[in-house]
Amino acid sequence: MHNVDIDLVEMTLDVIKFAIKRITDTDPQLGFPKSEAELSALVGETVTPEGISGEKAFALFRDVLIKASIPINHPRHLAFVPASPTRAAVMFDLVTSAANVHGAFWLEGAGCIFAEMQAMRWLVKLTGMPAPAFGVFTSGGTEANLSAMVAARENWRALDESKKTTRGIVIAAISAHSSVRAMAKVIDVDVISVQTEDCFEAAQLNETLENLTPEDRSRVFAVIATGGTTNAGIIDDLDGIAEICKRENLWFHVDAAYGGGALAAKSVRHLFNGIEHADSVTIDPHKWLFSPYDCGAVIYRDPEQAKAAHAQEGSYLDIFSDPGAQGFNPSDYQIQLTRRIRGLPLWFSLAMHGTNRYEKAVEDGIALAQTAGRLITEVEHTELVREPSLSCVLFRRHGWTAEDYRNWTYKNHKAGFALVAPTKVRHGSEFETVARFCFINPDTTETDIKAILETMK
Ligand SMILES: *Cc1c(COP(=O)(O)O)cnc(C)c1O
Repeated sequence: MHNVDIDLVEMTLDVIKFAIKRITDTDPQLGFPKSEAELSALVGETVTPEGISGEKAFALFRDVLIKASIPINHPRHLAFVPASPTRAAVMFDLVTSAANVHGAFWLEGAGCIFAEMQAMRWLVKLTGMPAPAFGVFTSGGTEANLSAMVAARENWRALDESKKTTRGIVIAAISAHSSVRAMAKVIDVDVISVQTEDCFEAAQLNETLENLTPEDRSRVFAVIATGGTTNAGIIDDLDGIAEICKRENLWFHVDAAYGGGALAAKSVRHLFNGIEHADSVTIDPHKWLFSPYDCGAVIYRDPEQAKAAHAQEGSYLDIFSDPGAQGFNPSDYQIQLTRRIRGLPLWFSLAMHGTNRYEKAVEDGIALAQTAGRLITEVEHTELVREPSLSCVLFRRHGWTAEDYRNWTYKNHKAGFALVAPTKVRHGSEFETVARFCFINPDTTETDIKAILETMK
């Protein structure tokens, strides 16, 4: 047996105390980044042959490093896609680490994987995809999109030997997330961009397909639609696109990394109609399902297709597919092999709170976007660029240039008041800089929104 070091026990208590304080903090500080040079001056060298002691390292973390980092769950952090993990999920993230379980194979992680699978079953049910649809938790939406695209491409080639060396094409709107193009680079396929930042309509897909040369048409293997664009919360015409994909024998992927949480909200669920026909779906629980980082998910209509693409082989892995070790191996359905049981914090929080609480918390985000829309319209100096969609609100301050928006962002952030960043919208070939809110945190209030709009006067 190892001796337990009493200093380590005391250190653990300090660390846990910090964690509890952070988890239960109802008035978090926004934090502001420092330059690497500033941090070097404050922190010095921490990785040394003898070590600097846990006490000292922790003090530097608590007093310097964490203050130069932004808590994503700050109620006035409304930039990008913020997050708001439940306290239960964050707490259980600590437990997940302490449990030290390998999450790739049933043989090693059976009990924990079983729990992850129950959380996954709820996600699958939200999509309405029929049995045997199922999925796995990934490091995020990027890996989920990559895993889905690899499955799609491999399936396309498996069905037609002549495609073995053909460079594939996927079709996606320009409003699709940047990770779609990044992942197309990884797997070396071309992307044909449908020129719309608004809803990607079935008619536009038809037109795109009709305009292809027969050679290019034979290279298209997948269409990617978005269930809640990252910039504006727009949901593409999933039903119409699904129908064309079926007719044309194309893999239909829905990227709902941000918007997927809204599948739980009855007020908007109908906007996602057609998602049940997808061959694969991406949802990021670390965005709108209140999970800590990092937790994405990919769901497949036919998990066997994904397994054929992803299961790794090696003599050292044989035991994991032995009948004696049988069970669900999450690594068979994604790019990653060794993995933490990253769905466990979501599972615990779901089990503790029940799914109704999730539905309510997502509806709160949607309601905040509606409230913001009303306030922006009421206030003299601002107006909506478009109606709020899901929890995204795009708006402009009359008379402001791109530089005004940028200065405003820095000013609010430096003051420790709010983090709200500008974005761009397209008008034909022109881009306009505008302001954007994205609501995730149900603790954000109408007062917060009013106060932020005040800072634009
Ligand atoms: C955020 C996002 C992604 C990327 O997800 P990560 O978890 O950051 O890898 C992909 N697609 C959409 C629509 C997103 O909003």
